[in-house]
Amino acid sequence: MSNKETSAPTHFIRQIIERDLAAGKNDGKIHTRFPPEPNGYLHIGHAKSICLNFGLAKDYAGGQCNLRFDDTNPHKENEDYVNAIKEDVKWLGFDWEDRLYYASDYFEKLYGYAVELIKAGKAYVCDLNAEQTREYRGTLTDPGRESPYRNRSVEENLDLFARIRAGEFEDGSRVLRAKIDMASPNMNMRDPTLYRIRHGVIHHQTGEAWCIYPMYDFTHPISDALEGITHSLCTLEFEDHRPLYDWILDNITIDCHPQQIEFSRLNLEYTVMSKRKLTQLVDEGLMTGWDDPRMPTIAGLRRRGYTPKSIRTFCERIGVTKSANSVEMGMLEACIREDLDQHARRALAVLDPLKVVIENYPEEKVEMLDAPYHPKDESMGSRQLAFTREIYIDRADFREEANKKYKRMVTGGEVRLRNAYVIKCEQVIKDDDGEIIELRCSYDPETLGANPVGRKVRGVIHWASASQGVPAEVRIYDRLFNHPAPDSDKSVESFLQHINPDSLRTVQAIVEPSLRQAEVGEQFQFEREGYFCVDQESSHDKVIFNRTVTLRDTWAKIEGEGS
Ligand code: ATP
Ligand code: MG
Repeated sequence: MSNKETSAPTHFIRQIIERDLAAGKNDGKIHTRFPPEPNGYLHIGHAKSICLNFGLAKDYAGGQCNLRFDDTNPHKENEDYVNAIKEDVKWLGFDWEDRLYYASDYFEKLYGYAVELIKAGKAYVCDLNAEQTREYRGTLTDPGRESPYRNRSVEENLDLFARIRAGEFEDGSRVLRAKIDMASPNMNMRDPTLYRIRHGVIHHQTGEAWCIYPMYDFTHPISDALEGITHSLCTLEFEDHRPLYDWILDNITIDCHPQQIEFSRLNLEYTVMSKRKLTQLVDEGLMTGWDDPRMPTIAGLRRRGYTPKSIRTFCERIGVTKSANSVEMGMLEACIREDLDQHARRALAVLDPLKVVIENYPEEKVEMLDAPYHPKDESMGSRQLAFTREIYIDRADFREEANKKYKRMVTGGEVRLRNAYVIKCEQVIKDDDGEIIELRCSYDPETLGANPVGRKVRGVIHWASASQGVPAEVRIYDRLFNHPAPDSDKSVESFLQHINPDSLRTVQAIVEPSLRQAEVGEQFQFEREGYFCVDQESSHDKVIFNRTVTLRDTWAKIEGEGS
């Protein structure tokens, strides 16, 4: 019966839609919209809404999804945000085709509907100032009081509203309000404001054409209805606004009435998700920009090395419910690991280089060793590693002494160099402070692609040639905050106090020669280290990598792990 064309997991919104489709509601169509306000960049929470709205439209025959900019607060919005949002939606893999709208497209129509309400005695011009309005509104336990301007005549209201539009009155002096019920237990129904005056702002779409701007609660239902939206999906904090959404549509002459359905917003541990707070991080210079790889923005995640697919998988896995919860960062990380494990080329990179001299290896010799790009996917081909007498290994891969559980290099012990030979540590060289500065080793020429005869090698470590390797800057990112819910901790004055001071650590690494040619955005698994991508500031002269994610969940780090 249903025209569902997907195997995606079901949830309560799908069930509502399928029931509506089966009942032949809305002519058997589904039409959704994603309505961002262009006052900041999109974040991973928005991705949930994008995947839901565009995903549903894709999943049902004839489904459509609009991209609509909810642009009614011009002093906070701009064209750069509009463009960034479009880019991010596309990058995530969704297409609004020819259905790009702006709430500001409807300003004239919205004005007409406001006049309709006035004529029907359902809206009035109110002269209370902001403080008085608040006072008159009452509280959750006390009913509000009616404004002394509530019973102005229709003629007076029409005249005043026209003059407000014409620019006769200053900001804050008057508003247009709906006449509903000052005693309603729902505060949103206590004569909510529909329009306010704002002079002197240049709207990114309408310029200086208007000095009044409609409120979200008035604009949203009408925009939905004008676009023929069938299911208007929003987050739970709008549940209490639904009676107003319905009231607006019930009291104007419009013949479409979309169904508002609320779902819980995504919260992610160890980060913040409100655009106001993200703006603060950027404006105060705490981040390099909206696309700082530590930001939970789509632009930040992209620069960090997240793929569109990994974000879509994440949004599918967290599901859609009405219960508010906080998702572990590990869930998002698992999604990018899975994707990159399959698709990222392998490479050798030494992040904390310790020099190793292989004393029985010829001094000038450079041996090119073939190494597959992927251990499980031959079709990805291979690259050449340069093997030389002097190489680097990672400092963490050597201990002078260790028990049998330590599967790396120890004094007098043997270890395999990944894709190369087995070497043995013969001597440790230290400086005057006792710091290890070099290892003297020997290699076994019989062990290239073959196990040594009669002995067991402890483990495999990665390496890079000292003369042929490429110096690279590697940016190691960690969580942006050191508190799971930085913005809900009441014991600190500001969520900024929970910023993790070690969220970025920059190291100078030596990477295998093939990486000199790596292009911006390319992704690699640095074996035994994690997944990395080439940063946009990188060039062939100065290669820069961002760590996307570690190989395993580092918050459950295991000491002495093997290869
Ligand atoms: P913020 O509080 O971060 O500024 P917002 O809700 O004001 O978010 P909008 O641009 O108005 O941001 O949101 C566009 C759409 O994205 C809305 O339908 C909103 O419900 C949805 N959305 C925003 N944040 C989340 C989130 N964390 N989880 C799910 N959906 C979200
Ligand atoms: Mg908003």
